[in-house]
Amino acid sequence: MERRVYLDNAATTFVSQEVLDEMLPCFNIKFGNPNSLHSFGREAAAVVDTARDRVAKAINAKSVGEIYFTSGGTEADNWAIKGIAHAYANKGKHIITSSIEHHAILDSCMALEKEGFEVTYLPVDKYGMVQVEDLKKAMRDDTVLVSIMVVNNEVGTIQNIKELAKVAHEKNAVFHADAVQAVGAVKLDVQDLGVDAMSMSAHKIYGPKGCGALYVRSGVRINNLMNGGAQERAKRGGTSNVPAIAGFGKAIEIATRDLDKNQKILKDLRDYFESQIKANIKHIHINGHPTQRINGTLSVTFEMIEGESILMSLDLEGIAVSTASACTSLSLQPSHVLRAMGVPDEIAHGTIRFSFGKNITKDDIDYTIKTLVKVVKKLRAISPITETGRN
Ligand SMILES: *Cc1c(COP(=O)(O)O)cnc(C)c1O
Repeated sequence: MERRVYLDNAATTFVSQEVLDEMLPCFNIKFGNPNSLHSFGREAAAVVDTARDRVAKAINAKSVGEIYFTSGGTEADNWAIKGIAHAYANKGKHIITSSIEHHAILDSCMALEKEGFEVTYLPVDKYGMVQVEDLKKAMRDDTVLVSIMVVNNEVGTIQNIKELAKVAHEKNAVFHADAVQAVGAVKLDVQDLGVDAMSMSAHKIYGPKGCGALYVRSGVRINNLMNGGAQERAKRGGTSNVPAIAGFGKAIEIATRDLDKNQKILKDLRDYFESQIKANIKHIHINGHPTQRINGTLSVTFEMIEGESILMSLDLEGIAVSTASACTSLSLQPSHVLRAMGVPDEIAHGTIRFSFGKNITKDDIDYTIKTLVKVVKKLRAISPITETGRN
């Protein structure tokens, strides 16, 4: 295979050199257990402190004590939903979320339903936007938690988090946001947004896999998900993954520092890609909000073809993309996100997510468009659903 183009950065990213440089000494030099009292331990503890400080600064947390390291976005989401719901269960057992959340949120909510919690899954409009009015109507006196993602991982739509959080607070509910796809893509200031808890992950921002964090505003109660030692202020037991935490701290610092620069690059690439795809391929739809969406992700539905066939044909040419989301690519279920947006199942199947990264060039895009035109033409020629058949 001559050429490889990675357009699946919403699934995971490579670890950047700066991040790797930060991590490597933690494996064999600063290898101590941060809970040990000797100099080796103190050295590792200093690494974790620096990383925590970087995460807190990146999201404008009031204190480093509001940042808890986890094994990733999934754990942060599970912990936020279950830990906050349980901590406030004496006040009420109603939770509100959206129908387009990541499965880490949706499945955590479903687990709570089995325990007797009641969950409202808010609808979205055709652009994937949660309506503030819908949240207002769904709020009840026994609503203890509202969880809405900042940026959707399949279509890139950005929610009006600030307004949604305000509505939740009017009824004294805790507001959590899954910000995994938002870090580095939009400015995240927890005080300005008014969120009480927020999930993050390292491997979507050029950091290592298996590491993330949960921000919990001081004063917000949360029960433990992981019991064990006194790590993370006795809130999350388990010896800290020091190399990964060091990498995450560096990755979020860089993502925040370079946000404007990276977004400009991504916007130019995405706009160019979008204009080329529209000019060269017929019967396509762009999913997500026309303006209120991140620059790095473009979801495109190709009528009359299966997304899996496009994915595999592009893979043969070295181009990596994803059908709706990496998490559902092994199931034949149409994406719950596209379904909630009202995309008919028969065309939702032909959806591909292109997610751009900071190392992609215009040349990569030209190669991808050229290949895509060829692949779509070939697949449509053998498609049982023909253009004339549609009339
Ligand atoms: C990737 C992702 C997660 C899960 O994060 P992991 O670190 O992979 O566990 C959660 N939410 C969203 C929106 C994501 O894109």
